[in-house]
Amino acid sequence: RRTPFIAGNWKMNLDHLQAVAFVQKLHWTLKDAGHETDTVEVGLFPPFTDLRTVQTLVDADKIPFALGAQDVSAHDSGPYTGEISGAFLAKLECRYVIIGHSERRQYHGETDEIVASKVAAALRHGLVPVICVGETAEDLETHGASAVPVAQLEKALAGLASGSEVVVAYEPVWAIGSGQAATADQAQEVCAKLRAVVGDALGADAAARTRVLYGGSVKSGNIARFMREPDVDGALVGGASLVVDEFAAIIRYQK
Ligand code: 13P
Repeated sequence: RRTPFIAGNWKMNLDHLQAVAFVQKLHWTLKDAGHETDTVEVGLFPPFTDLRTVQTLVDADKIPFALGAQDVSAHDSGPYTGEISGAFLAKLECRYVIIGHSERRQYHGETDEIVASKVAAALRHGLVPVICVGETAEDLETHGASAVPVAQLEKALAGLASGSEVVVAYEPVWAIGSGQAATADQAQEVCAKLRAVVGDALGADAAARTRVLYGGSVKSGNIARFMREPDVDGALVGGASLVVDEFAAIIRYQK
């Protein structure tokens, strides 16, 4: 059985000082509630400038959160001003890196080709890519829900070694930050198709092992509905991951 994965994408929020207060408060909120940490994996995806701070904090206080970055360079090192190498992230004990978030596709011109080269870079450095795919409202109108995310994932996985470890996040663009989450049925339908794409590209074992997440206006009030679906293994949470009590309640969706 796949371990559920609840991931908080902070986007461009919380500086490194705010991050300390947030992570400690989240940890104590979960402890006070008697949360059993092995029931669900919790991942935090802060801005680059917070990573070292959060790493030392998680390390020193034995706080059981996995660390991830929000992007990575397709290159390993060299004259790429402003870019961050996967090697640096690995050295910071990042386990994960988000790749191809719709905000990067939309505002930073990330094509499927760039996304694929970043996925390869992450794997080269031992990072697990959290590959984001999803359709816009316009795509939904013209092609239905699954065509665009399926095509995006096929391109992101093309050429990878069979059995490669990845996480997939289905994030309909129209659901992000809109308060208008997909229904559990919609999420299940697309997540099942994405799992089949993983199977075709990486093999049946990988498909059975890979966590497929839903993202887009996930809240404490709707998380349990998504988690009941057989092909939804967790959530990639934006806004609600910045509010300690709300994110703790999402993590504790089983209660
Ligand atoms: P919201 O949870 O704020 O809708 O954002 C989702 C998201 O983009 C996570 O990556």
